[in-house]
Amino acid sequence: MLWNSEEAQLLKEAVLNLEKGFSTLPKFEPQLKAEQLKPVLLDVAEKMRDNYPYFHPFYAGQMLKPPHPVARLAYMLALYVNPNNHALDGGRASSRMEKEAVAQIAAMFDWKTHLGHLCGGGTMANMEALWVSGRLNPGKAVAASDQAHYTHGRITGVLKLPFREIESDNKARMDMNALEDALKGGAIGTVVATMGTTATGSVDPLPEILALREKYGFRVHADAAYGGYFTLAATLAKETTAAYRCLDRVDSLAIDPHKHGLQPYGCGCIIFRDPSVGALYKHDSPYTYFSSHELHLGEISLECSRAGASAVALWATQRALPLTREGSFARSLEKCHAAALDLYKRLCDDARFMTAWVPELDIVIWVPRANTVSEMSALSSKLFEACAEKNLHLALATLPARFFGKGFKGDEESLVCLRSCLMQPEHLDGMDAIWNIFSEVTEEVTA
Ligand SMILES: *Cc1c(COP(=O)(O)O)cnc(C)c1O
Repeated sequence: MLWNSEEAQLLKEAVLNLEKGFSTLPKFEPQLKAEQLKPVLLDVAEKMRDNYPYFHPFYAGQMLKPPHPVARLAYMLALYVNPNNHALDGGRASSRMEKEAVAQIAAMFDWKTHLGHLCGGGTMANMEALWVSGRLNPGKAVAASDQAHYTHGRITGVLKLPFREIESDNKARMDMNALEDALKGGAIGTVVATMGTTATGSVDPLPEILALREKYGFRVHADAAYGGYFTLAATLAKETTAAYRCLDRVDSLAIDPHKHGLQPYGCGCIIFRDPSVGALYKHDSPYTYFSSHELHLGEISLECSRAGASAVALWATQRALPLTREGSFARSLEKCHAAALDLYKRLCDDARFMTAWVPELDIVIWVPRANTVSEMSALSSKLFEACAEKNLHLALATLPARFFGKGFKGDEESLVCLRSCLMQPEHLDGMDAIWNIFSEVTEEVTA
């Protein structure tokens, strides 16, 4: 299931091809004591069995998506050189590939100008955006919805910027009246628009946020860590599409290639629309930049050392699967969305369950119907565990009970619900099998 001999053969051919570039060097055989490494590696393999099967469509829980084979292979290939993209001296080819890959991401959002780079992940990308915001609007607050990623509160703590939490509406999107009230209070320098919340995939109303910017003046940062790639999908609801269509007007944007972009972990991306923010990073370390006058990635990044392999893997993936609305990558995202709509419909058609709203992206939340919030929470947890025993891996989320309407006794404010991130296109084809298990398990648990 995991092993594929074609993949191994491809890696061998590619490494031998890479080696040709260094053929003028005196012979140098790397030391590898296979007989000593074997027990270690087999032990590692055994330990790694203690994982949920993230690579299988029966893993339909948290926000985890298997990397594309081309990303895995290109990453491994790059490891034979192990470039460091902190400066051109650390990785010439991989720095170029990073710039190209990031430019393709900026073009995906129809940006005409950009400055940006890869980073460790969405948290780092958001931190960098808010760091720039803080430099440009010193002392002013950052506002994000109560459904925004939890790290925004923490990041602003690190940056010593005030944080304003804006209430969400009943579809988990930032409430525009609440935002305007906060803006009237003044002193908000940045509004974070979440383009796909981590819990439910809800997309903040960016057109309205941008309209408020005209009136009150603030920076807009789009946290598209999870949902950014859906800008390529043609099947989203009208309102959701309208929000994506104005991403070319935000000031900065964070997107995670290691979420929906088919990359191994350690690949986030931050882009700024105005390249002049690069001046804010200025420093003059005596050791990093000694051989080039070009602008290095290390000169426009908060992090220093970064895996060049991440850039190589991303570049290779985007070469194989271009970020276009016409391409197969866009179609695979639409399949994820379709899988969510499929699951949503099955849940709506079944009196045993209650769902919230039509999924905007590919995350579905639901609960087994019961009289009270606490009963539904307890049942959700039971179903979650019972499904896992049958190899079907869902996730749990604690969310405001108001997301599920009013057809129950609200003995508690928060409700533990079931949540499924359908991030693999294979989830669509596998939905019958997933549903059959889930339905049977529900039958057993509620009997
Ligand atoms: C995942 C996520 C983050 C954090 O990204 P990491 O890559 O996990 O650091 C931030 N914002 C949103 C909306 C996310 O979904």
